[in-house]
Amino acid sequence: MAGPSDQNTLERLNEVRAQIAVAADAARRTPDDIELVAVSKKFDADAITPLLAAGHRVFGENRVQEALDKWPALKRNWPDIELHLIGPLQTNKAKQAVGLFDCIETVDRPKLARTLASLRDSGLALPELMVQVNTGGEAQKAGIPPEEVDGFLDLCRGEHKLEISGLMCIPPIDEEPALHFALLEKIAKRNNLAKLSMGMSGDYQKAVALGATHIRLGTAVFGPRP
Ligand SMILES: *Cc1c(COP(=O)(O)O)cnc(C)c1O
Repeated sequence: MAGPSDQNTLERLNEVRAQIAVAADAARRTPDDIELVAVSKKFDADAITPLLAAGHRVFGENRVQEALDKWPALKRNWPDIELHLIGPLQTNKAKQAVGLFDCIETVDRPKLARTLASLRDSGLALPELMVQVNTGGEAQKAGIPPEEVDGFLDLCRGEHKLEISGLMCIPPIDEEPALHFALLEKIAKRNNLAKLSMGMSGDYQKAVALGATHIRLGTAVFGPRP
């Protein structure tokens, strides 16, 4: 049953869509080229269902186990859901992740690339794959350092025959995100990658201005996380 907080979620979604349209227009882009990934981590099915009922289909989760608990049931009701993994993937969870997610945005090390390739070789269909770039070179953050991305992409595409669709980044919280978005765009362009997953609730307008094809919004859509 719809409650007042569902109404707020739909209002926030509409507000965000309006903001995306404004930012896209200013950058002479079409809003249709910007995918809103609604980041539903820590929200349960009751919070997610109103968005599905309203027609939204693209969601992001950062933990494999949490996603396995929530999404198989929702996917049975809405088979055209597109679920993105936006958090780190341990190789021992790779098989489950390949079975559930439609896009893994966080391919971030050779061992994971090798594991994904061997799952493909064993007959599994891989989801869309993106490479996470640690644009800020932060020790505690996942992702390939900027200066190693070209080599890592060669490894993925060459040796492992993995199809990589784009790049993803999470800028350091204390730095101007636009610098990181511009760096990600530059690395993607020189490697012929079309997709850019960048921009969160606090900075997605800047990401749209700098070419984001996927923006990952949690609090802007769902409100504060429980
Ligand atoms: C949680 C999360 C988001 C969404 O963050 P908000 O600030 O709530 O929009 C986006 N990307 C990643 C990788 C996340 O873990």
